[in-house]
Amino acid sequence: MAIPHHCKYVIIGAGIHGLSTAYHLAQELRTRGIGSGRDILVVDKTAIAAGASGIACGVVRNNYFQPAMRELMAYCVELWESEPQAYSYHPVGYMQISPESMHADVASIAAQQRAIGYESVFVEGARDADAYMKSLFHDWRAQGITSVLHEKRGGYANNTASIYGLADKAESAGVRILTGCRVTGFKSSAAGGAITAVETERGEIGCDYVVVGAGPWVKSVWEMLGLPKTVTIKDSAGGLHHDLPMWVYWSLQEGTLGVDPAIQKTNDGAPPPVIHVDSDAPLYSVVDGSLITDRMWGIYYKPDFKFGGIQGGAAPIKVARDPDRVAVDPYGPESPDFVVGAEFAHMWCSALAHCQARFEGQIGKYKNQPSGGIGAFTPDSLPVFDVFRENCYVIADSNHGYKMLGVGKLVAGEICGAPSTLLAPFRFSRYAEGKLHPVSHSPFPWS
Ligand SMILES: Cc1cc2nc3c(=O)[nH]c(=O)nc-3n(C[C@H](O)[C@H](O)[C@H](O)COP(=O)(O)OP(=O)(O)OC[C@H]3O[C@@H](n4cnc5c(N)ncnc54)[C@H](O)[C@@H]3O)c2cc1C
Repeated sequence: MAIPHHCKYVIIGAGIHGLSTAYHLAQELRTRGIGSGRDILVVDKTAIAAGASGIACGVVRNNYFQPAMRELMAYCVELWESEPQAYSYHPVGYMQISPESMHADVASIAAQQRAIGYESVFVEGARDADAYMKSLFHDWRAQGITSVLHEKRGGYANNTASIYGLADKAESAGVRILTGCRVTGFKSSAAGGAITAVETERGEIGCDYVVVGAGPWVKSVWEMLGLPKTVTIKDSAGGLHHDLPMWVYWSLQEGTLGVDPAIQKTNDGAPPPVIHVDSDAPLYSVVDGSLITDRMWGIYYKPDFKFGGIQGGAAPIKVARDPDRVAVDPYGPESPDFVVGAEFAHMWCSALAHCQARFEGQIGKYKNQPSGGIGAFTPDSLPVFDVFRENCYVIADSNHGYKMLGVGKLVAGEICGAPSTLLAPFRFSRYAEGKLHPVSHSPFPWS
Protein backbone atom coordinates (compact mmCIF):
# COMPACT_ATOMS: atom_id res chain seq x y z
CA MET A 1 0.00 0.00 0.00
CA ALA A 2 1.26 3.50 -0.88
CA ILE A 3 1.78 5.64 2.17
CA PRO A 4 -0.99 8.26 2.44
CA HIS A 5 -0.07 11.92 2.99
CA HIS A 6 -2.85 12.36 5.49
CA CYS A 7 -5.33 10.27 7.40
CA LYS A 8 -7.62 11.61 10.10
CA TYR A 9 -6.92 8.81 12.60
CA VAL A 10 -3.57 7.01 12.66
CA ILE A 11 -3.35 3.94 14.90
CA ILE A 12 0.08 2.54 15.73
CA GLY A 13 0.10 -1.24 16.17
CA ALA A 14 -1.89 -4.08 14.59
CA GLY A 15 -2.38 -6.06 17.80
CA ILE A 16 -5.54 -6.56 19.85
CA HIS A 17 -5.78 -2.92 20.95
CA GLY A 18 -4.89 -1.18 17.69
CA LEU A 19 -7.25 -3.36 15.67
CA SER A 20 -10.10 -3.36 18.18
CA THR A 21 -9.89 0.44 18.34
CA ALA A 22 -9.80 0.66 14.54
CA TYR A 23 -12.82 -1.59 14.03
CA HIS A 24 -14.93 0.00 16.74
CA LEU A 25 -13.91 3.54 15.79
CA ALA A 26 -15.04 2.82 12.23
CA GLN A 27 -18.42 1.71 13.58
CA GLU A 28 -18.66 4.66 15.95
CA LEU A 29 -17.87 7.20 13.21
CA ARG A 30 -20.43 5.68 10.88
CA THR A 31 -23.16 5.45 13.54
CA ARG A 32 -22.66 9.07 14.45
CA GLY A 33 -22.56 10.09 10.78
CA ILE A 34 -19.19 11.76 11.21
CA GLY A 35 -17.00 9.49 9.11
CA SER A 36 -16.13 5.86 8.41
CA GLY A 37 -13.33 3.31 8.38
CA ARG A 38 -11.83 5.18 5.41
CA ASP A 39 -10.72 7.81 7.92
CA ILE A 40 -8.58 5.27 9.82
CA LEU A 41 -5.10 3.96 9.05
CA VAL A 42 -3.41 1.26 11.16
CA VAL A 43 0.39 1.31 10.84
CA ASP A 44 2.53 -1.62 11.98
CA LYS A 45 6.30 -1.93 11.74
CA THR A 46 6.05 -5.66 11.05
CA ALA A 47 2.71 -7.35 10.46
CA ILE A 48 -0.72 -8.09 11.87
CA ALA A 49 -0.32 -10.05 15.16
CA ALA A 50 3.48 -9.60 15.12
CA GLY A 51 3.57 -8.57 18.78
CA ALA A 52 2.36 -9.96 22.10
CA SER A 53 -1.17 -10.56 20.78
CA GLY A 54 0.22 -13.11 18.33
CA ILE A 55 2.00 -15.19 20.98
CA ALA A 56 -0.42 -14.81 23.91
CA CYS A 57 -1.68 -17.92 25.65
CA GLY A 58 -5.08 -16.40 24.95
CA VAL A 59 -6.67 -16.78 28.38
CA VAL A 60 -9.82 -14.72 28.92
CA ARG A 61 -10.88 -14.39 32.56
CA ASN A 62 -12.53 -12.09 35.06
CA ASN A 63 -10.50 -13.16 38.10
CA TYR A 64 -8.85 -9.94 39.27
CA PHE A 65 -8.41 -8.58 42.76
CA GLN A 66 -8.97 -4.98 41.66
CA PRO A 67 -12.71 -4.13 41.35
CA ALA A 68 -12.04 -1.80 38.40
CA MET A 69 -10.25 -4.60 36.54
CA ARG A 70 -13.12 -7.03 37.19
CA GLU A 71 -15.71 -4.63 35.86
CA LEU A 72 -13.64 -3.92 32.77
CA MET A 73 -13.03 -7.65 32.18
CA ALA A 74 -16.74 -8.46 32.53
CA TYR A 75 -17.36 -5.95 29.74
CA CYS A 76 -14.60 -7.51 27.61
CA VAL A 77 -15.88 -11.07 28.14
CA GLU A 78 -19.28 -9.98 26.82
CA LEU A 79 -17.62 -8.85 23.61
CA TRP A 80 -15.74 -12.14 23.21
CA GLU A 81 -19.04 -13.97 23.74
CA SER A 82 -20.82 -11.82 21.16
CA GLU A 83 -18.96 -13.35 18.18
CA PRO A 84 -17.11 -16.50 19.26
CA GLN A 85 -16.45 -17.67 15.70
CA ALA A 86 -15.07 -14.40 14.38
CA TYR A 87 -12.79 -14.18 17.42
CA SER A 88 -11.94 -17.91 17.58
CA TYR A 89 -13.12 -17.87 21.18
CA HIS A 90 -13.71 -20.96 23.34
CA PRO A 91 -16.07 -20.19 26.25
CA VAL A 92 -14.92 -23.07 28.47
CA GLY A 93 -14.71 -21.14 31.75
CA TYR A 94 -11.79 -20.48 34.06
CA MET A 95 -10.74 -21.74 37.51
CA GLN A 96 -8.66 -19.97 40.15
CA ILE A 97 -7.46 -22.62 42.61
CA SER A 98 -5.72 -21.17 45.65
CA PRO A 99 -4.02 -21.80 49.00
CA GLU A 100 -5.15 -20.32 52.33
CA SER A 101 -2.91 -17.22 51.94
CA MET A 102 -5.12 -16.15 49.01
CA HIS A 103 -8.47 -17.32 50.42
CA ALA A 104 -9.70 -13.91 51.60
CA ASP A 105 -8.62 -12.19 48.36
CA VAL A 106 -10.43 -14.71 46.21
CA ALA A 107 -13.51 -14.63 48.48
CA SER A 108 -13.75 -10.90 47.82
CA ILE A 109 -13.43 -11.53 44.07
CA ALA A 110 -16.27 -14.09 44.28
CA ALA A 111 -18.44 -11.63 46.23
CA GLN A 112 -17.83 -8.89 43.68
CA GLN A 113 -18.61 -11.28 40.82
CA ARG A 114 -21.96 -12.01 42.48
CA ALA A 115 -22.54 -8.27 42.85
CA ILE A 116 -21.91 -7.57 39.16
CA GLY A 117 -23.80 -10.67 38.00
CA TYR A 118 -20.74 -12.50 36.66
CA GLU A 119 -21.55 -16.21 36.99
CA SER A 120 -19.12 -18.18 39.17
CA VAL A 121 -19.07 -20.88 41.86
CA PHE A 122 -16.94 -20.38 44.98
CA VAL A 123 -15.95 -23.45 46.98
CA GLU A 124 -14.24 -23.02 50.37
CA GLY A 125 -12.36 -25.42 52.65
CA ALA A 126 -9.74 -28.03 51.77
CA ARG A 127 -12.11 -31.00 51.70
CA ASP A 128 -14.83 -29.34 49.63
CA ALA A 129 -12.28 -27.81 47.25
CA ASP A 130 -10.69 -31.23 46.67
CA ALA A 131 -14.09 -32.89 46.14
CA TYR A 132 -15.15 -30.18 43.68
CA MET A 133 -11.94 -30.59 41.68
CA LYS A 134 -12.28 -34.41 41.70
CA SER A 135 -15.85 -34.07 40.41
CA LEU A 136 -14.32 -32.46 37.32
CA PHE A 137 -10.98 -34.30 37.12
CA HIS A 138 -10.87 -37.74 38.80
CA ASP A 139 -7.05 -37.56 39.10
CA TRP A 140 -6.94 -34.21 40.89
CA ARG A 141 -4.35 -34.29 43.69
CA ALA A 142 -2.95 -30.78 44.30
CA GLN A 143 -2.02 -30.21 47.94
CA GLY A 144 -2.77 -27.27 50.22
CA ILE A 145 -5.73 -25.93 48.24
CA THR A 146 -8.44 -24.28 50.35
CA SER A 147 -10.56 -22.44 47.79
CA VAL A 148 -11.73 -22.83 44.21
CA LEU A 149 -13.29 -20.05 42.18
CA HIS A 150 -14.92 -21.50 39.08
CA GLU A 151 -15.83 -18.78 36.60
CA LYS A 152 -18.50 -20.19 34.30
CA ARG A 153 -17.73 -17.53 31.70
CA GLY A 154 -14.37 -16.72 30.10
CA GLY A 155 -12.04 -19.32 28.62
CA TYR A 156 -9.50 -18.78 25.88
CA ALA A 157 -9.15 -17.75 22.24
CA ASN A 158 -6.65 -18.77 19.56
CA ASN A 159 -4.23 -15.88 19.45
CA THR A 160 -3.46 -15.21 15.77
CA ALA A 161 -6.86 -16.44 14.54
CA SER A 162 -8.67 -13.91 16.70
CA ILE A 163 -6.37 -11.05 15.69
CA TYR A 164 -6.84 -11.89 12.00
CA GLY A 165 -10.59 -12.08 12.65
CA LEU A 166 -10.46 -8.58 14.08
CA ALA A 167 -8.32 -7.33 11.17
CA ASP A 168 -10.89 -8.73 8.70
CA LYS A 169 -13.68 -6.94 10.49
CA ALA A 170 -11.73 -3.66 10.52
CA GLU A 171 -10.87 -3.94 6.81
CA SER A 172 -14.47 -4.78 5.93
CA ALA A 173 -15.41 -1.54 7.68
CA GLY A 174 -13.01 0.35 5.38
CA VAL A 175 -9.95 0.60 7.66
CA ARG A 176 -6.57 0.44 5.88
CA ILE A 177 -3.76 -1.55 7.49
CA LEU A 178 -0.23 -0.59 6.46
CA THR A 179 2.36 -3.17 7.53
CA GLY A 180 6.16 -3.07 7.31
CA CYS A 181 6.14 0.61 8.25
CA ARG A 182 7.82 1.71 11.48
CA VAL A 183 6.79 4.90 13.26
CA THR A 184 9.91 6.85 14.20
CA GLY A 185 8.57 10.08 15.67
CA PHE A 186 5.87 12.73 15.82
CA LYS A 187 5.47 16.27 14.54
CA SER A 188 3.61 19.06 16.28
CA SER A 189 3.22 22.78 15.74
CA ALA A 190 4.38 23.60 19.30
CA ALA A 191 6.83 21.64 21.47
CA GLY A 192 4.87 19.09 23.51
CA GLY A 193 1.62 20.15 21.85
CA ALA A 194 -0.93 18.36 19.71
CA ILE A 195 0.44 15.99 17.09
CA THR A 196 0.08 17.07 13.48
CA ALA A 197 1.90 14.20 11.76
CA VAL A 198 3.30 10.76 12.41
CA GLU A 199 6.82 10.25 11.07
CA THR A 200 7.60 6.84 9.63
CA GLU A 201 10.50 5.14 7.89
CA ARG A 202 8.53 5.53 4.66
CA GLY A 203 7.55 9.19 5.06
CA GLU A 204 5.29 11.47 7.02
CA ILE A 205 1.54 10.94 7.54
CA GLY A 206 -0.41 14.04 8.54
CA CYS A 207 -3.18 13.29 11.03
CA ASP A 208 -5.74 14.77 13.42
CA TYR A 209 -5.59 12.04 16.05
CA VAL A 210 -3.18 9.25 17.04
CA VAL A 211 -3.82 6.02 18.97
CA VAL A 212 -0.87 4.06 20.34
CA GLY A 213 -1.30 0.29 20.77
CA ALA A 214 2.36 -0.67 20.69
CA GLY A 215 2.33 -3.44 23.33
CA PRO A 216 5.85 -4.32 24.55
CA TRP A 217 7.26 -1.46 22.41
CA VAL A 218 5.25 1.19 24.27
CA LYS A 219 8.37 2.54 26.01
CA SER A 220 9.94 3.60 22.72
CA VAL A 221 6.76 5.31 21.50
CA TRP A 222 6.33 6.92 24.95
CA GLU A 223 9.81 8.39 24.56
CA MET A 224 9.03 9.62 21.02
CA LEU A 225 6.08 11.45 22.59
CA GLY A 226 8.43 13.10 25.11
CA LEU A 227 6.60 11.61 28.10
CA PRO A 228 8.33 11.15 31.48
CA LYS A 229 10.78 8.30 32.00
CA THR A 230 10.05 8.21 35.72
CA VAL A 231 7.02 8.93 37.90
CA THR A 232 6.25 9.94 41.46
CA ILE A 233 3.69 7.79 43.21
CA LYS A 234 1.66 8.85 46.24
CA ASP A 235 0.90 5.90 48.53
CA SER A 236 -2.23 5.38 50.66
CA ALA A 237 -0.58 7.14 53.64
CA GLY A 238 0.24 10.18 51.50
CA GLY A 239 3.98 9.33 51.24
CA LEU A 240 5.66 10.21 47.96
CA HIS A 241 7.89 7.74 46.10
CA HIS A 242 10.00 9.55 43.54
CA ASP A 243 11.91 8.50 40.42
CA LEU A 244 10.17 5.19 39.82
CA PRO A 245 10.78 3.94 36.28
CA MET A 246 7.68 4.27 34.13
CA TRP A 247 8.40 1.00 32.31
CA VAL A 248 9.87 -2.28 33.48
CA TYR A 249 9.93 -5.56 31.59
CA TRP A 250 8.85 -8.98 32.72
CA SER A 251 9.65 -12.16 30.87
CA LEU A 252 6.65 -14.45 30.46
CA GLN A 253 7.21 -18.13 31.01
CA GLU A 254 5.11 -20.30 28.74
CA GLY A 255 5.43 -23.61 26.94
CA THR A 256 3.59 -26.66 25.62
CA LEU A 257 3.51 -30.30 26.70
CA GLY A 258 3.20 -32.24 23.45
CA VAL A 259 0.52 -34.71 24.54
CA ASP A 260 -2.90 -35.23 22.94
CA PRO A 261 -4.87 -32.13 24.02
CA ALA A 262 -7.88 -34.42 24.60
CA ILE A 263 -6.03 -35.85 27.62
CA GLN A 264 -7.40 -32.97 29.69
CA LYS A 265 -11.13 -33.63 29.12
CA THR A 266 -13.31 -33.48 32.22
CA ASN A 267 -14.79 -36.65 33.79
CA ASP A 268 -17.89 -36.32 31.60
CA GLY A 269 -15.85 -35.81 28.41
CA ALA A 270 -16.41 -32.05 28.13
CA PRO A 271 -13.76 -29.47 27.13
CA PRO A 272 -12.14 -28.41 30.42
CA PRO A 273 -11.99 -24.91 31.85
CA VAL A 274 -8.67 -23.08 31.87
CA ILE A 275 -6.92 -24.04 35.12
CA HIS A 276 -4.89 -21.62 37.22
CA VAL A 277 -3.33 -23.00 40.41
CA ASP A 278 -1.43 -20.99 42.99
CA SER A 279 0.12 -23.00 45.79
CA ASP A 280 2.41 -22.80 48.79
CA ALA A 281 2.76 -26.60 49.01
CA PRO A 282 6.34 -27.82 48.47
CA LEU A 283 6.87 -28.60 44.79
CA TYR A 284 8.97 -31.66 44.00
CA SER A 285 10.67 -32.66 40.75
CA VAL A 286 9.02 -35.31 38.59
CA VAL A 287 12.51 -36.18 37.37
CA ASP A 288 14.39 -36.97 40.59
CA GLY A 289 12.07 -36.09 43.49
CA SER A 290 14.23 -33.14 44.59
CA LEU A 291 12.59 -30.03 46.06
CA ILE A 292 12.01 -27.41 43.34
CA THR A 293 10.55 -24.81 45.69
CA ASP A 294 8.93 -24.47 49.08
CA ARG A 295 7.82 -20.92 48.31
CA MET A 296 4.64 -19.71 46.64
CA TRP A 297 4.35 -20.90 43.02
CA GLY A 298 1.69 -20.74 40.35
CA ILE A 299 0.85 -22.29 36.98
CA TYR A 300 -1.93 -22.13 34.39
CA TYR A 301 -2.81 -24.53 31.60
CA LYS A 302 -5.35 -25.50 29.02
CA PRO A 303 -5.56 -27.95 26.13
CA ASP A 304 -4.83 -26.22 22.85
CA PHE A 305 -5.34 -27.83 19.46
CA LYS A 306 -3.41 -25.06 17.70
CA PHE A 307 -0.34 -25.33 19.95
CA GLY A 308 -0.81 -29.12 19.80
CA GLY A 309 -0.84 -30.12 23.43
CA ILE A 310 -1.34 -28.76 26.91
CA GLN A 311 -0.23 -25.16 26.77
CA GLY A 312 0.32 -22.78 29.66
CA GLY A 313 2.81 -21.07 31.87
CA ALA A 314 4.12 -20.10 35.27
CA ALA A 315 4.74 -16.82 37.09
CA PRO A 316 6.78 -14.39 34.97
CA ILE A 317 10.29 -13.25 35.86
CA LYS A 318 11.15 -9.58 36.26
CA VAL A 319 13.88 -8.54 33.82
CA ALA A 320 16.64 -7.22 36.07
CA ARG A 321 18.38 -5.28 33.29
CA ASP A 322 18.03 -1.48 33.05
CA PRO A 323 14.87 -1.01 30.89
CA ASP A 324 16.89 1.29 28.58
CA ARG A 325 19.11 -1.68 27.76
CA VAL A 326 16.41 -4.26 27.11
CA ALA A 327 16.14 -5.27 23.43
CA VAL A 328 12.46 -5.86 22.66
CA ASP A 329 13.41 -6.95 19.13
CA PRO A 330 13.72 -9.60 17.91
CA TYR A 331 10.48 -10.37 19.71
CA GLY A 332 8.97 -13.52 21.21
CA PRO A 333 10.36 -16.91 20.19
CA GLU A 334 13.00 -15.14 18.04
CA SER A 335 14.52 -13.34 21.04
CA PRO A 336 18.00 -14.55 22.04
CA ASP A 337 17.36 -13.43 25.64
CA PHE A 338 13.72 -13.92 26.58
CA VAL A 339 12.61 -17.46 25.81
CA VAL A 340 12.00 -20.12 28.42
CA GLY A 341 14.60 -22.76 29.16
CA ALA A 342 14.95 -26.18 30.77
CA GLU A 343 14.32 -24.77 34.25
CA PHE A 344 10.82 -23.65 33.24
CA ALA A 345 10.01 -27.00 31.60
CA HIS A 346 11.13 -28.85 34.74
CA MET A 347 9.11 -26.67 37.12
CA TRP A 348 5.96 -26.44 34.97
CA CYS A 349 5.80 -30.15 34.12
CA SER A 350 6.43 -31.04 37.78
CA ALA A 351 3.65 -28.67 38.82
CA LEU A 352 1.26 -30.18 36.25
CA ALA A 353 1.95 -33.63 37.71
CA HIS A 354 1.55 -32.22 41.25
CA CYS A 355 -1.98 -31.16 40.26
CA GLN A 356 -3.15 -34.08 38.13
CA ALA A 357 -1.86 -37.66 37.96
CA ARG A 358 -2.44 -37.79 34.18
CA PHE A 359 0.66 -35.62 33.75
CA GLU A 360 2.96 -37.99 35.65
CA GLY A 361 5.74 -39.37 33.41
CA GLN A 362 4.96 -36.96 30.54
CA ILE A 363 7.84 -34.49 30.90
CA GLY A 364 9.70 -36.17 28.01
CA LYS A 365 6.95 -34.89 25.70
CA TYR A 366 7.60 -31.23 26.56
CA LYS A 367 8.00 -29.34 23.27
CA ASN A 368 11.54 -28.12 23.41
CA GLN A 369 11.11 -25.13 21.14
CA PRO A 370 11.48 -21.40 21.89
CA SER A 371 8.43 -19.89 23.58
CA GLY A 372 7.55 -17.00 25.85
CA GLY A 373 8.05 -13.28 25.37
CA ILE A 374 8.39 -10.03 27.29
CA GLY A 375 5.83 -7.50 28.36
CA ALA A 376 6.20 -3.82 29.30
CA PHE A 377 4.72 -3.19 32.74
CA THR A 378 3.71 0.11 34.36
CA PRO A 379 4.86 1.05 37.91
CA ASP A 380 1.81 -0.61 39.52
CA SER A 381 1.53 -3.38 36.90
CA LEU A 382 -1.92 -2.12 35.90
CA PRO A 383 -2.95 -0.47 32.64
CA VAL A 384 -2.68 3.18 31.67
CA PHE A 385 -5.40 4.30 29.27
CA ASP A 386 -5.10 8.02 28.72
CA VAL A 387 -4.77 10.92 26.31
CA PHE A 388 -1.42 12.73 26.06
CA ARG A 389 -0.34 15.68 23.93
CA GLU A 390 -4.03 16.66 23.47
CA ASN A 391 -4.73 14.19 20.64
CA CYS A 392 -2.79 11.01 21.35
CA TYR A 393 -4.55 8.11 23.08
CA VAL A 394 -2.06 5.68 24.63
CA ILE A 395 -3.32 2.16 25.35
CA ALA A 396 -0.67 0.67 27.64
CA ASP A 397 -2.19 -2.51 29.06
CA SER A 398 0.74 -3.57 31.28
CA ASN A 399 0.54 -6.99 29.69
CA HIS A 400 -3.02 -7.74 30.84
CA GLY A 401 -4.39 -7.14 27.49
CA TYR A 402 -5.14 -9.95 25.06
CA LYS A 403 -8.34 -10.59 26.98
CA MET A 404 -9.19 -6.86 26.85
CA LEU A 405 -11.01 -6.94 23.53
CA GLY A 406 -13.43 -4.30 24.77
CA VAL A 407 -10.85 -1.63 25.56
CA GLY A 408 -10.63 -0.58 21.90
CA LYS A 409 -14.40 -0.19 21.82
CA LEU A 410 -14.38 2.02 24.90
CA VAL A 411 -11.42 4.02 23.56
CA ALA A 412 -13.29 4.54 20.28
CA GLY A 413 -16.22 5.88 22.30
CA GLU A 414 -13.96 8.25 24.26
CA ILE A 415 -12.36 9.55 21.04
CA CYS A 416 -15.88 10.35 19.83
CA GLY A 417 -16.70 12.21 23.03
CA ALA A 418 -18.29 9.50 25.24
CA PRO A 419 -16.20 9.23 28.44
CA SER A 420 -15.99 5.70 29.86
CA THR A 421 -16.42 5.04 33.58
CA LEU A 422 -14.73 1.66 33.02
CA LEU A 423 -11.53 3.29 31.71
CA ALA A 424 -11.52 6.22 34.15
CA PRO A 425 -9.73 4.33 37.00
CA PHE A 426 -6.74 3.78 34.69
CA ARG A 427 -5.62 7.33 34.05
CA PHE A 428 -1.95 8.27 34.35
CA SER A 429 -2.80 10.90 36.98
CA ARG A 430 -3.60 8.13 39.52
CA TYR A 431 0.10 7.87 40.39
CA ALA A 432 0.48 11.52 41.42
CA GLU A 433 -2.97 11.63 43.03
CA GLY A 434 -2.49 8.38 44.97
CA LYS A 435 -5.67 6.88 43.47
CA LEU A 436 -4.12 3.43 43.39
CA HIS A 437 -5.72 0.02 42.98
CA PRO A 438 -5.57 -2.66 45.72
CA VAL A 439 -2.73 -5.20 45.58
CA SER A 440 -3.40 -8.96 45.82
CA HIS A 441 -1.42 -11.80 47.43
CA SER A 442 -1.05 -13.66 44.14
CA PRO A 443 2.49 -14.51 42.93
CA PHE A 444 1.53 -13.06 39.54
CA PRO A 445 1.99 -9.32 38.85
CA TRP A 446 -1.29 -9.20 36.94
CA SER A 447 -3.85 -10.62 39.38
C1 LIG B 1 3.88 -14.98 26.18
C2 LIG B 1 2.71 -14.09 26.46
C3 LIG B 1 1.50 -14.67 26.84
C4 LIG B 1 0.41 -13.86 27.13
N1 LIG B 1 -0.79 -14.46 27.47
C5 LIG B 1 -1.88 -13.70 27.69
C6 LIG B 1 -3.14 -14.30 27.98
O1 LIG B 1 -3.26 -15.52 28.06
N2 LIG B 1 -4.20 -13.48 28.20
C7 LIG B 1 -4.10 -12.13 28.15
O2 LIG B 1 -5.09 -11.45 28.37
N3 LIG B 1 -2.92 -11.52 27.86
C8 LIG B 1 -1.82 -12.27 27.62
N4 LIG B 1 -0.62 -11.67 27.34
C9 LIG B 1 -0.56 -10.21 27.25
C10 LIG B 1 -1.09 -9.74 25.92
O3 LIG B 1 -0.57 -10.54 24.90
C11 LIG B 1 -0.74 -8.28 25.66
O4 LIG B 1 -1.11 -7.51 26.79
C12 LIG B 1 -1.51 -7.74 24.45
O5 LIG B 1 -1.46 -8.66 23.39
C13 LIG B 1 -0.93 -6.40 24.00
O6 LIG B 1 -1.65 -6.01 22.87
P1 LIG B 1 -1.22 -4.72 22.06
O7 LIG B 1 -2.19 -4.58 20.95
O8 LIG B 1 -1.04 -3.58 22.99
O9 LIG B 1 0.25 -5.03 21.55
P2 LIG B 1 0.89 -6.09 20.50
O10 LIG B 1 0.01 -7.24 20.23
O11 LIG B 1 2.24 -6.33 20.97
O12 LIG B 1 0.93 -5.24 19.18
C14 LIG B 1 1.76 -4.11 19.07
C15 LIG B 1 2.11 -3.93 17.61
O13 LIG B 1 2.74 -2.66 17.51
C16 LIG B 1 3.72 -2.75 16.50
N5 LIG B 1 4.69 -1.66 16.74
C17 LIG B 1 5.45 -1.48 17.83
N6 LIG B 1 6.22 -0.37 17.71
C18 LIG B 1 5.89 0.16 16.51
C19 LIG B 1 6.36 1.30 15.79
N7 LIG B 1 7.31 2.12 16.27
N8 LIG B 1 5.83 1.56 14.56
C20 LIG B 1 4.88 0.74 14.03
N9 LIG B 1 4.42 -0.37 14.67
C21 LIG B 1 4.91 -0.65 15.89
C22 LIG B 1 4.30 -4.15 16.68
O14 LIG B 1 4.90 -4.62 15.47
C23 LIG B 1 3.09 -4.97 17.09
O15 LIG B 1 2.50 -5.66 15.99
C24 LIG B 1 0.50 -12.45 27.04
C25 LIG B 1 1.72 -11.87 26.68
C26 LIG B 1 2.81 -12.67 26.37
C27 LIG B 1 4.08 -12.02 25.95
